This record gives sequence, C-alpha cells and structure tokens, in this order.
Amino acid sequence: MKVITSLGDFPAARGALTSPVGFVPTMGYLHEGHLSLARMARESCAAVIASIFVNPTQFAPTEDLAAYPRDLDRDLELLEAEGVDLVLAPSDNGALYPPGYDTWVDVAGLTHRLEGASRPTHFRGVATVVAKLFNIVQPQHAYFGQKDAQQALVIRRLIRDLNFPIALHLGPTIREADGLAMSSRNAYLTPEQRGAAPILRRCLDHVERLYAEGERDGDVLRRAMGEILDAEPLALPDYISVADLESLEEIASVTGKALVSLAVRVGKTRLIDNTILPPGSGLF
Ligand code: AMP
Repeated sequence: MKVITSLGDFPAARGALTSPVGFVPTMGYLHEGHLSLARMARESCAAVIASIFVNPTQFAPTEDLAAYPRDLDRDLELLEAEGVDLVLAPSDNGALYPPGYDTWVDVAGLTHRLEGASRPTHFRGVATVVAKLFNIVQPQHAYFGQKDAQQALVIRRLIRDLNFPIALHLGPTIREADGLAMSSRNAYLTPEQRGAAPILRRCLDHVERLYAEGERDGDVLRRAMGEILDAEPLALPDYISVADLESLEEIASVTGKALVSLAVRVGKTRLIDNTILPPGSGLF
C-alpha cells in the first residue's frame, strides 16, 4: 500500500493503478463502517484508493475540528489489511486550501434541511472537498455510507449536476452490538453517555414497528421518537424528521419512500442516525 501525503506526488502513484479505481473518502479514525466501504470497493474494483483528511471547511467555527480524533498509523494499518492500494492523506490543510482559496461547490435545495439547517455551512464544505478529491483521485466508483444519508443524497446530486463520470455506491450503516451506529465521534462519549447513545436506534426501531403496524402519519411517527427521547435526560434532540426522500421536506403522511432521521446531542457529542421506510428499502 502506498501512502501519499503531498499532493504533488499523487498523480504518479495514481497513474500506476489499473482501472476501474474505487474511492473511499474518509476523515480517518477508522472503524468498521469505513472498512466495510473499502471492502465493497475491493470486491468490485481493480484498485482501491482511500483518503484521510479532516476537512476543515465542513466544520463551523463552533464545532469540533481541533478535537476531532486522529490516529493515522492505526488507520493505515487497517486500510492495508483491507487490501487498499493507495492512500491520500494530505499532511496539511494548505495543500487543499492554499492562501486565497475561494472556490466553493454549493448543492442548493437539498442542503438547507436536516443537517444543513443545524449546520448551515457543512454541506458546502463537504461538496467542495468531495469535488476536489474526485478531480484529484479520478475514480470510476465512489463509496459512501448510509449513516450519512443526506450527505449521500448531496453527493449523488453533485455527481449528476457536475457531470462527474463516477458511479456512486452506498454501504449500509454498520452498528455496534447494541445498535449504536459506528462513528469516529463515539470516541467522545463518557461511559454513561455511551450507555444512553443507543437510544437513536431505539427510536428508529420503534418507528419501523409502528410502520409495520400500519401507522403512516408523519406527526405520529415524529412524536413517537420525541417521546422516547424525552425519557432519556442525557439525550437532547436537535431534529426529528420523517421526510420525503427526494425533496427532504417533512411529510404529513408516508405514502412512498421516506427518510426517517434524527440528530441528538448526548453531552457535547452530536449523534445522527436514520432508516428508510418501508424498512429494508435503499436510499437510492
Ligand atoms: P467520515 O470519516 O465520518 O467522513 O465518513 C467517511 C465515510 O464513511 C462516509 O461515506 C460515511 O457515510 C461512512 N460511514 C461513517 N460511519 C459509518 C457507519 N457506521 N456505517 C457505514 N458507513 C459509515
């Protein structure tokens, strides 16, 4: 496995790979969620490239950029064990955002709701860095996780609208044994908070159960999640949503496919999770 930390060295390493190339962009501090995407890429591509870059432009000034967990040596060991061929891990932010950097990719519409309502500059940072990485890496396939469902929808739109010749693939959300979606940010949780964190999955399970019993009313489903969260003093909801999968607008009644999602603060840590209705449906 080759590791490139300087952008200038990347094209030569990329040029040595056989197509089709699969790409897994990450912010590092890897877990099974990331590795499952690398595995998907390994199964269907001739070469696999992963990136590790804690992208500063998707963090608001009040957010956890400085504290975001990092362990490059461990990440590289894990990626090597998955058979990844090439890792792009820029050693400083200036390589991607030199002084005077002023070009942004803004996927309108989709980015104003849910995560975008709580984090107004987040998706501009995500879309910008992903577009830059697509241009640098030039993959034929890209792999993203359903854990960040809205992000996946934004990337799908970005690929379509900017004509990137890239096939987008979505991996399922990988969870801990108690249902908590794996996330690098779970490392922030105290043992007590960690004990409370599976409540997000419990909310989604409950909605799936209500749906299976025939409940279709958006308000009833949203309220049911709110009531479960109200009973947990460590969990503070940010948003609770049952939204149309195309527009991400809140829906009155579930008729087609819906994205059920929530963001919850547990202490200082903001956790997100989602499921698609009808249960078992794909996001795309
Ligand atoms: P991140 O490092 O958080 O930017 O995530 C990099 C990629 O891994 C994104 O496509 C995420 O959606 C995906 N990912 C993160 N957590 C999980 C998970 N628990 N299961 C599946 N994919 C995940």
